[in-house]
Amino acid sequence: MFCTALRRALAILSFVAVALGAAAQGTVSSPRLYVFDGGVLASETARYRLTDADVEEVELSVASYLVVHPRGVLMWDAGAVGDAERGGPVGYEQRLVRHDKQERFVKLAPPLAAQLAAAGYEPADVTHLALSHYHWDHTADANTFAHAQWLVPKLEHDAMFRADPPGGTRPETYSALRNSSRTTVLTAAEHDVFGDGSVVIRQASGHTEGHTVLYVKLANTGGVVLSGDLYHYPAERTLNRLPTFEVSEAETQAARTELEQFLRRTNAALWIQHDLVAHRKLKKAPEYYD
Ligand SMILES: [Zn+2]
Repeated sequence: MFCTALRRALAILSFVAVALGAAAQGTVSSPRLYVFDGGVLASETARYRLTDADVEEVELSVASYLVVHPRGVLMWDAGAVGDAERGGPVGYEQRLVRHDKQERFVKLAPPLAAQLAAAGYEPADVTHLALSHYHWDHTADANTFAHAQWLVPKLEHDAMFRADPPGGTRPETYSALRNSSRTTVLTAAEHDVFGDGSVVIRQASGHTEGHTVLYVKLANTGGVVLSGDLYHYPAERTLNRLPTFEVSEAETQAARTELEQFLRRTNAALWIQHDLVAHRKLKKAPEYYD
């Protein structure tokens, strides 16, 4: 009895959320930023030249984002565990194996499709896809968005599809992007996604060959930069520590210097995507930043 009533209440709530989201979708006059929770990733601080004493939380968040703009809908990053491969409910500790056979563990959040739906969107509504970089914990549901225009730096694209892809990938998660006719290969330092300067992919290579960050200019929140993996822990930024597994430490260092100048110049906030402490405090979809 109770269960039936609860189920009915939940069904009504999710219907209202979908209706609100769908209504909003056609009417945005300035960008909106939705935050999706991709679960909690087990970590080792030594991989970032830190100790557990340097950080508030050893575990890392996994996040992906939807930018809804009057001219399109951009998905930024695609999670660590694909909806189709989930081995259990929310909280289940999922084991994943990278291309180099290293294993990783992620505690599951709700499925991405459910979080998208709560915001009023389906994968088919996504018009543009960009991945901060090719590591497995950013690509899990990439194939779901193969219909969208994929914006990818040339060097990143080349590395993803070379004969022996990088060890930190799971190539099967992005294989559908390989022959997509909707690929836009980026070579410039900046790519203005919708042409009005409010959503800009910025080159920040070094972590991978073509690593990028995303600048989003929001009317009320102000400027936000989604970090990709330019940093993982805030302590990397304050103590100036680099991960041990960069493709080019010199390039990462240069990208960090350039980004810090950009942040000062634009007064934008840096959102470190893997910072679990900060991520917990963010509003999650269906709430949004505008
Ligand atoms: Zn990552």
